[in-house]
Amino acid sequence: MEYIYNKNGELEKHLYEISDTLSLNDKYIKGLFKADNRYIVISTNKDIIVFDSINFIVHKEIIKDGYSSELNYLYDDGEDIWLASCNDFYSFNKNSKEIIYYSNHLKELDINPGRVTYILQDKNNKNIIWLGGIDIGIVKYHKKNGVINQYKSDYLNKDSLINNYINSMIFDNSGNLWVGTNIGLSKFNIKSESFSSYTTADGLSNNFINSIIIDNSGNIWISTNKGLNKFDIEKQEFIYFAKMDGLNGYQFNLNASLLCKNGYIFFGSTNGLIYFKPEDIVNPTKYKEKVVIGDIYIRKEKVAYDGKELVLEYNNNDLIIDYFLPNYQNLNYVTYDYMIEGIDSEWKHIGSRNFLDIKSLESGKYTLKLRARDGHGNLTDETTMNIKVKPPIWKTPIAYIIYTIIIVLVTYYIINYVKILQNLVDQKTIKLNKQLEENKKLSEEIIDKEKIKNNYFVNLSHELRTPINIIVSTVQLINTFTKDKVLSQEKNNEYMSIISKSCDNLLKIIGDIIDSSKIETGEYKINKEDNDIVYLVEETALNMSKFIEKKGISLLIDPDMEEKIISCDSTEIERCIINLLGNAVKFTPEGGEIRVYIKEIKKYIEISVEDTGIGISEEDQDFIFKRFSQVEGTGATRASSSGIGLTLVKSIAELHGGYVRLESELNKGSIFTIGLPNIVEGFIYNE
Ligand code: ADP
Repeated sequence: MEYIYNKNGELEKHLYEISDTLSLNDKYIKGLFKADNRYIVISTNKDIIVFDSINFIVHKEIIKDGYSSELNYLYDDGEDIWLASCNDFYSFNKNSKEIIYYSNHLKELDINPGRVTYILQDKNNKNIIWLGGIDIGIVKYHKKNGVINQYKSDYLNKDSLINNYINSMIFDNSGNLWVGTNIGLSKFNIKSESFSSYTTADGLSNNFINSIIIDNSGNIWISTNKGLNKFDIEKQEFIYFAKMDGLNGYQFNLNASLLCKNGYIFFGSTNGLIYFKPEDIVNPTKYKEKVVIGDIYIRKEKVAYDGKELVLEYNNNDLIIDYFLPNYQNLNYVTYDYMIEGIDSEWKHIGSRNFLDIKSLESGKYTLKLRARDGHGNLTDETTMNIKVKPPIWKTPIAYIIYTIIIVLVTYYIINYVKILQNLVDQKTIKLNKQLEENKKLSEEIIDKEKIKNNYFVNLSHELRTPINIIVSTVQLINTFTKDKVLSQEKNNEYMSIISKSCDNLLKIIGDIIDSSKIETGEYKINKEDNDIVYLVEETALNMSKFIEKKGISLLIDPDMEEKIISCDSTEIERCIINLLGNAVKFTPEGGEIRVYIKEIKKYIEISVEDTGIGISEEDQDFIFKRFSQVEGTGATRASSSGIGLTLVKSIAELHGGYVRLESELNKGSIFTIGLPNIVEGFIYNE
């Protein structure tokens, strides 16, 4: 039973006295909510009752005997009262008294209706309300159609709601929805559907938001579990107030806040009521001090810092840096931010911790920046500290210089080596080319020789044919004459002598061929004996004198000494003299002269055969001593020549240890000289 007493303490009226089920008698009244000027919503431990404060009757019992009908939040839009209780979300129409339950709408989207703890009317659309609650984020709700959208926190998305535990919501003058959560404050831009969020890192005194009020200037006041914050909408920054500013309590309670018509703001704290007129509150001035770096430890050992640069060895980088803000008034509220330039791209908030633990800095240069927020959330200027971590020995400039030198040396060595190889290859190539050239020359020589040989054999055949032809034709003549029986003895002798000469000629040629072949293979042997060389030469020449003179050529034999014994093969020497004289006759025209000289020149006896014949050109002079070679040219030369004679002369002279020399001029004559060693058997004459 409820009673109303007058000012004098007299009982005026029994407010409510019904003995039926609607009686409030003995009920556990937990909450009273003023819905409008007429209705009061009463929550008990089991019921929620709408009470008519004009007629003093229970207007409607919404929940009866619920297990837990505790009312979380209530909102009256004029027509309907919207209620969020611990087990349902529903509306009560004040005219029709109809109650509509919306649990199913929410459950369809996995939203627990009992967790709605805040209801806010949309600013533009009267059909839309915003619900917030425990672990449900915020829900945009159409009064008739149900849930339009749910916005939840997504840790992967920086632009999402900061946390799903919603404590308070309010629209600012620009139409942004401010949402206070257990872990920070979010501003929801309704148009772009994006959130920007604020935490202690941005200057809030605490992240647990209890309530939000927007004052008449549009600034936002936020009560937290630790301190009262003002978000200056113009400067877009937080300032906070605590005990030192005159707050008797700084831990505030959930949704214990009011903005009164006269502009006063009220906040309920754990230690009394705080009220103020926002325009009376002056922004605290910025604190001038900066963060001061205190002790520095490397592996727990204190190190010195000269205030300019901290230099660390590469393995000494386990670092602890103490710092503080020399603000002794309100130390509890000071928080710090730091950033290591070279590693971090943005400030890191470390709360009130006043040391930094930096591990494993790579070698390099860094700048540590520190700043603090003072007791009002104002940022101090930055304090900087240069840190240099030395490179390990293998990464020092000297090390790099050494690497470079090694690389250069190796490269140099390789280049050199390649050069040497190149040189070797070049030399080898030159050698091979030379060899190739030599081989080419050799093969050309062989081909030439083959040609000469071939020529020679053609000539030789011709040479052999001449005496054979003579023999054959002479034999024919003899036969004819014999047949006709007119062959006289005289003629017969003449023919026989022709045949015999031709045979001798043939034999000589064949003999020469055989001997020159033997000489070439080294089989030819001479028999040296002591002979009087003067006598030998004279005798041979004289034997030929008749034949020479018959050709119209004069012969002169002019030895320097009367007698000279030397070791020689008389047959071979005779053969040489015959050969030389034969050639001289062959190549000297009628009227010419042949002279034979014998001289002693140093260790040799020289026998020269001079003629006044056709001579031999310079280029042919070497050539004529080679086997099978004949000097091409005049008809006379070609006439009767086997090309072996001079080869034999040279070989025989050399077999004696001597030499052959030729001096000749074309059309003037030739001098062939045989030099034989001036020795007797077993004895060499001194000069
Ligand atoms: P052949 O038996 O054909 O005479 P040789 O070896 O004696 O062969 O001579 C070689 C060539 O040298 C001759 O064919 C000739 O052309 C040249 N020759 C040799 N002796 C004389 C000379 N006294 N005068 C000019 N040419 C000569």
